[in-house]
Amino acid sequence: MRRFCAIGLALLAVLGGCAGPEARLRRYQTAFMDLFDTVTEVTGYAESREAFDGWAAVIRDRMEELHRLYDIYYEYDGVNNLRTVNQNAGIAPVAVDRAVIDMLLLAREWYELSGGAVNVALGPVLRIWHDYRTEGERLPPMEDLTAAAAVCGIDDMIIDEAAGTVFLAKPGMSLDVGSVAKAYAVELAVKAAREAGARSLLISAGGNITAAGPPPDRAYWRIGVQDPDAAAAGTQGYADVVRMTGLTISCSGGYQRYYTVDGQTYHHIIDPATLTPANRYQKVAVIHGDPGVADLLSTALFILPYDEGLALAESAGADALWIGADGGWRATEGYAEVSETLGGYGAGEGT
Ligand code: AMP
Ligand code: MG
Repeated sequence: MRRFCAIGLALLAVLGGCAGPEARLRRYQTAFMDLFDTVTEVTGYAESREAFDGWAAVIRDRMEELHRLYDIYYEYDGVNNLRTVNQNAGIAPVAVDRAVIDMLLLAREWYELSGGAVNVALGPVLRIWHDYRTEGERLPPMEDLTAAAAVCGIDDMIIDEAAGTVFLAKPGMSLDVGSVAKAYAVELAVKAAREAGARSLLISAGGNITAAGPPPDRAYWRIGVQDPDAAAAGTQGYADVVRMTGLTISCSGGYQRYYTVDGQTYHHIIDPATLTPANRYQKVAVIHGDPGVADLLSTALFILPYDEGLALAESAGADALWIGADGGWRATEGYAEVSETLGGYGAGEGT
């Protein structure tokens, strides 16, 4: 793939420029630093700074509420969150907000569809990798990972929709929703902002970019797909730019969180079949209309062999780009159509 660099933000928002009834809309931008362990950037067109700030506040408030509900590390006064659910594993069902139940139902559906590749009940295994990655010196012993995997069965995540409860039936179980929570929260936040009147928004949250309503003078946003080599080097290069609206692009890559042991890197996306980091690709990008689905699919496709991932993407009506460990790439036809690098050249593969 032809590579190019661009300075500035990952969001290459198109500037307005035409006359007409919407010409008075101006582009605004803001960022939140403290939600979901990442930076959330909001870009949009509005009639005034006040109008944009109002929508941004709606997004921020909803995402903060969801951040608390989906948090597995901290507890908050008066809130039953996923940490509460994890602490009650093998003890008792926990009454939770509907936004927790709905996200877990979606995650369970994609566990089934992905043949178990993406599993939010993989918490005990992910926790071990997290702790060793934080320590940064050694690899976890396989016997510890195997023992943890014995309590990662998603069938033991009992969701009682009528009672509004979640129960992890086995002691030692825990949920980790890093594969889905951010984008799912963005979806609910966008819904709230649209109800408040927002029409042109682009939200970027840790590898997921949701384009909700285009800029006033075009039918699409231009979105940079970070180059994994540049990202690993801490610089801002793009492997591609896609044009889209009403869609989310989610990226999963081994360059995001990793540590090195004996010259070998070990990242944060774990293949449940091997209990070790998936190593087929440098990066996968998935485009889908539903942000939560895009996020779950990006994690699943990063783990699955190409043929299985392609079949899953096609069955879901998703498009995808795979950048292999050797730098070679493949893309679905639909991805190529929205890609500025591949556009006009059709789908295919290359180096
Ligand atoms: P993403 O960046 O969306 O691919 O999500 C990666 C995050 O999902 C990791 O940081 C873990 O918290 C979690 N995770 C890693 N491997 C898996 C897996 N096989 N199934 C579900 N969640 C996972
Ligand atoms: Mg994901």
